Amino acid sequence: MSDKYHFASDNTSPTCPEAWATLSEVNQHYLPSYGADTYTAKACEAFRNFFECDCEVYFVFNGTAANSLALASLCQSYHSVITHESSHVETDECGAPEFFSNGTKLLLGKGNHGKLTPESVEALITKRSDIHYPRARVLSLSQPTELGTRYSIDEIRSLTELTARHDLKVHMDGARFFHALVAEGCTPKALTHEAGIDVLCFGGTKAGLGFSEAVVFFDKGLAREFEYRCKQAGQLASKMRYLSAPWAPWLNDRLYEKYSRVALESANNLGEQLSQLEGVKLMYPIEANSVFLEMPERVHTFLNEKGWRYYQFIGGAARFMCSWHTTPGDVASLAKDIRAGSLQSK
Ligand SMILES: *Cc1c(COP(=O)(O)O)cnc(C)c1O
Repeated sequence: MSDKYHFASDNTSPTCPEAWATLSEVNQHYLPSYGADTYTAKACEAFRNFFECDCEVYFVFNGTAANSLALASLCQSYHSVITHESSHVETDECGAPEFFSNGTKLLLGKGNHGKLTPESVEALITKRSDIHYPRARVLSLSQPTELGTRYSIDEIRSLTELTARHDLKVHMDGARFFHALVAEGCTPKALTHEAGIDVLCFGGTKAGLGFSEAVVFFDKGLAREFEYRCKQAGQLASKMRYLSAPWAPWLNDRLYEKYSRVALESANNLGEQLSQLEGVKLMYPIEANSVFLEMPERVHTFLNEKGWRYYQFIGGAARFMCSWHTTPGDVASLAKDIRAGSLQSK
């Protein structure tokens, strides 16, 4: 591609060639609609092998729907969901979790680097037990977080042991879950159901799969009538196979591993190339595919002149996202311009 790489988000990248090839193959056939096709069955089977458990899987068009519908299925309208104050469900979903759950309240917890601490969660759970306050019912964790950090398995367990004591369910926003998994280097089950996660919203879109998010229920009882929720919300794809088919090769052939490595290494390389630059400060540890920088205004001006695009409204800093499609050349070229910008006269 001759375009300049777009560090604004990982969803500026194209779809990976293997997923595109699967879609071309799907496109050769007449197939049953609404998920009754063999590609969708194979994809669901791939998830069960991947997680080594009998999970229930649904495919939706985007992450906001995945999160909102999953949370709605765990809650009654008089419940509440505990989530980090910087989480996507709080800051970037336009109230959809509250809307789809008919008014479930989000309670905002705290913790450094986008991660909830057990103390903060426990304080929210136990703050009130009277009938005048919405009862805490769900803990929602982002893995990796919106600030590009990860919960370790032990950190997840310390939270889920707490929520189990208080009878809360646990939802994981895994819009970038593949990166957390590959970076952590553990089995998929160790980072999810074995650690106490009940429902995972599993992102395909940003990983490189085109357009598809999977909602994975490890506790199948919680998936009851979920398909009705999807349909009512306009998220039941009539040509479901186009959302589901690319997942089977992606999981079975471990394509995610190859592509996550690219994204993770790119972010690490970018961080390394920017260390020790005057006035440029790394805001959070690089534990996934993003790099958050605090930079002097002259660097922003310089980067804008050079045509670089990135967000500044997330995490209170300039965010640079790497993806399966980032090249060492893209990283070097951005790092060169940040360095040049920082060296301009003050
Ligand atoms: C991108 C993202 C989502 C999903 O966003 P959509 O734009 O609705 O697909 C959810 N959670 C996190 C943490 C994200 O980064």
